[in-house]
Amino acid sequence: MAVERTYAMIKPDAVTNGHTGRILSIIQEHGFKIIGLKQKSISPAEAEAFYAVHRERPFYASLVTFMSEGPSVLLVLEREDAIKKWREAMGATNPANAADGTIRKLFAESIERNAAHGSDAPETAAQEIQFFFSASELL
Ligand code: GDP
Repeated sequence: MAVERTYAMIKPDAVTNGHTGRILSIIQEHGFKIIGLKQKSISPAEAEAFYAVHRERPFYASLVTFMSEGPSVLLVLEREDAIKKWREAMGATNPANAADGTIRKLFAESIERNAAHGSDAPETAAQEIQFFFSASELL
């Protein structure tokens, strides 16, 4: 399995609730190398563009409001099979369905306020990394 990169976020609910440190520990315990890391308040326009694929969904406006309500921690993570491994570490989108020990089971408040983001495919990982990081910010 090839070494690859994924884009991850600790979402505003988890940052505001003080879970950043524990989630970064879990990331390192799962063997990810942190290639990029910054804390940033995403603007409504950035959240709209980032989640544009969901613009027809009924929760789009609420999701944009949530994602721009406070700071997020933006991350580029690297390891073998990183995209799949990070999605496994996060758990199911709805914390009610997330496996024990996953980040969303531990920290999510609801299906929307679900603590973490992870890219779902190599193409989206590349787009999402570029959306928030310049090449000089990646180690
Ligand atoms: P992910 O890949 O697991 O993050 O899930 P999706 O790409 O399907 O959805 C993107 C984000 O939209 C999720 O992480 C949630 O924050 C939010 N979301 C997804 N489904 C719902 C829903 O049914 N209701 C609400 N309110 N938010 C949702």
